[in-house]
Amino acid sequence: MKPAPFSYYRTRSVPETVARLAELGDGAKILAGGQSLVPMMNFRLARPDALVDVTRIPGLEYLRAGPDGLRIGALTRHRTVELCRDPVVLDGFGLLPRAARWIGHYPIRARGTFGGSIAHADPAAEWCLLAVLLEANVVLAGPAGARTVPVSDFFEGFYTTTAEPDEMITELHFPRAARHAALTEFAQRQGDFAVVAAAVSVDLGVAGPPRPGAACRSVRVVLGGVGPLPFVVDTGALGGQPAAAATWRAAGELAAAQIDPPADGHGGPAYRRRLAATLVERALTEAAAAP
Ligand SMILES: Cc1cc2nc3c(=O)[nH]c(=O)nc-3n(C[C@H](O)[C@H](O)[C@H](O)COP(=O)(O)OP(=O)(O)OC[C@H]3O[C@@H](n4cnc5c(N)ncnc54)[C@H](O)[C@@H]3O)c2cc1C
Repeated sequence: MKPAPFSYYRTRSVPETVARLAELGDGAKILAGGQSLVPMMNFRLARPDALVDVTRIPGLEYLRAGPDGLRIGALTRHRTVELCRDPVVLDGFGLLPRAARWIGHYPIRARGTFGGSIAHADPAAEWCLLAVLLEANVVLAGPAGARTVPVSDFFEGFYTTTAEPDEMITELHFPRAARHAALTEFAQRQGDFAVVAAAVSVDLGVAGPPRPGAACRSVRVVLGGVGPLPFVVDTGALGGQPAAAATWRAAGELAAAQIDPPADGHGGPAYRRRLAATLVERALTEAAAAP
């Protein structure tokens, strides 16, 4: 299928984009990597009157570490994150390149952008899960200037966010590093969206793998593929528990007991619960062993 007719604009700066979006009204959409929007247009699931192509705006592709955490420009490609090996950038954020490899196939990772994935708000998307896991902030530019929104106030449901039609995401800000963190998932074919994905972090109070007898200060678990939003598991019961296999298994069961996942062609609620339990246990085992 081909998309319905639309007008096309290319902008060269964020202010020009915002002005163009405001002028065009609700029928206009930003075009970034096009890896979600274009397939949706081809299937006529989206019919924007106008596309505003932001891919030539300079200066929005970066991973920048600073005293207040890590900042990722909206136009940063998935592949750029995957290939990042800068030890300064990755200090406490090694999870990001490890997670990137789960996103689609190589051509999708080479074109799709970080900001586009957050704007698209698929509840199984890897960047959406990590943004929730690491309590990121979304930086938006609009007609009234810039604003920063905690991701917990940004995602509203399946493919919906609190961004206004005339706002553009310019940056993701990750204020807190997570040394012991991992993301794992299950999809029926390589490159597909996850049926269930688990993103986890564990605070062991020290760098490196847990020492014998060490306890978890806290555990954070976020699941994708189990509802309209990334699901944050209540892990209060795990604080102070031994940093050991039995705790990771218990965390998996805790997660499975808290979710009420949907049924679809990939599996029913009971199947997704068992997947969640297995993936959480697996992810926590990997996270605890992270250097
Ligand atoms: C076969 C296939 C498999 C895939 N598998 C995965 C997967 O496993 N995991 C995964 O996470 N993704 C997957 N994707 C989606 C891919 O990651 C997309 O790149 C991503 O969802 C959207 O990013 P984009 O830059 O391509 O955005 P686009 O497709 O250009 O835009 C998506 C939406 O976001 C809006 N938008 C884009 N940028 C901005 C911005 N800066 N500010 C405000 N709004 C903006 C657009 O208007 C549009 O509504 C897959 C895609 C395909 C085709």
